Amino acid sequence: MSGQFDSIVDGLIFTGRLVAPFVSECTRCLKPIDEDWPVDVTVFFPYESGQDKANGKGGKSKKDDEIDIIAGEDESEDTYPLLENGAFADIEAMIRDTLVESLPLQPLCRPDCRGLCSQCGADLNEDPDHHHDVTDIRFAGLAGLKAQLEAEQNGEQAK
Ligand SMILES: [Zn+2]
Ligand SMILES: [Zn+2]
Repeated sequence: MSGQFDSIVDGLIFTGRLVAPFVSECTRCLKPIDEDWPVDVTVFFPYESGQDKANGKGGKSKKDDEIDIIAGEDESEDTYPLLENGAFADIEAMIRDTLVESLPLQPLCRPDCRGLCSQCGADLNEDPDHHHDVTDIRFAGLAGLKAQLEAEQNGEQAK
């Protein structure tokens, strides 16, 4: 994690980059994914205790409005209350939330992953020309029946 804190009137602004190990599997081809996942973060730590914030929820205070405006400038910007009256920034929560938000819900080994054959599970990345004559799964049963009939016919012909 690298970055810097900038002190402003209302709190601290952290801008930087997190690099997290990202271990998952491709949702298309199920290949394991193990890579570093860099995330640019801009987080605002307002000088305001959690108690003050809770009290201000009934009637929206002017302070909350200001924070909302700041947060609204950039969608990737989050606010976290400073703990212990500003002595500590809740970096752990920031990192956790940032990663949860930024990690893909459906990770892919690569953006154009072709995935697996829906019929036999073959990896279409390794075998791009892979296909089956029966393209519609609904006809797979009929095709099986047809193959069976053909096999029986062939069997009779062989007699
Ligand atoms: Zn994949
Ligand atoms: Zn296949």
